[in-house]
Amino acid sequence: MKRILGIALVPALLLAACATAPYTQRSQLMLISPGEENQLGAQAFQQVLSKEKVLHDPVLQAVVDRIGWRIANAANRPDFQWQFVVIDNPKMANAFALPGGKVAVYTGMFPVARTEGGLAAVMAHEVAHVLARHGGERLSQGLLAQMGAVAVQVGMAGRDPGVVQGVMVAYGLGANVGVLLPYGRLQESEADRIGLILMAQAGYDPREAVQLWQRMAQQDRQAPPEFLSTHPSAGTRIQDLQRLMPNALTYYRPAPDQVAESTRLLPGVSVR
Ligand SMILES: [Zn+2]
Repeated sequence: MKRILGIALVPALLLAACATAPYTQRSQLMLISPGEENQLGAQAFQQVLSKEKVLHDPVLQAVVDRIGWRIANAANRPDFQWQFVVIDNPKMANAFALPGGKVAVYTGMFPVARTEGGLAAVMAHEVAHVLARHGGERLSQGLLAQMGAVAVQVGMAGRDPGVVQGVMVAYGLGANVGVLLPYGRLQESEADRIGLILMAQAGYDPREAVQLWQRMAQQDRQAPPEFLSTHPSAGTRIQDLQRLMPNALTYYRPAPDQVAESTRLLPGVSVR
């Protein structure tokens, strides 16, 4: 019965299956509603947190909260339930964000991010993936290819655990803890572009993003940091960021007491 209902709904679903990315106005295939996506994002986040070791360090947490809330305010999504956590894994130089405003930073990211502005660049990039609904887009493409629109319709209705898993994979979280999957090149450059504006709007100097990618590239010579290995080459990226910089700087109007924060070292990070 459900299936018959699903098939009847397909033409309507496909007609309504488009979305537009914020800031870039790129049109996207979207078979999942923002509400469904946020709900699934929250479920997926709970799953991750039950498997990972959440760090309750008041000093680090305060920094991540402060940066996170500034970005959240710039993102202007009061419909999101923002939450920022630090995951204790010094070997993971990475971070991720899930629909509905769930953001996690691994402790291994702090030495590479180095400054508050560097961490803001990382977090703004991840939040940008969420704002542009890159996971929902990837999920839509994947589900359409694998099962067709009918399965999407039926699966969403049933809150299928397989669909929650699909959201996790679509947002770059692999089946195993500590594995992050890369987005496509188009989505990466879009997240860079949106993230740069977002961090500037949040009061962080967007030029810190270039410094961050330069540090990533430098580290790359010894052992590639996770964030780099799940993201496309640093060289092209730095060039693109520099091209986008004049526009991003028009959004950068920090309060006088905020100016020093962009270059302030993160807790526990020392200058070599
Ligand atoms: Zn990314």
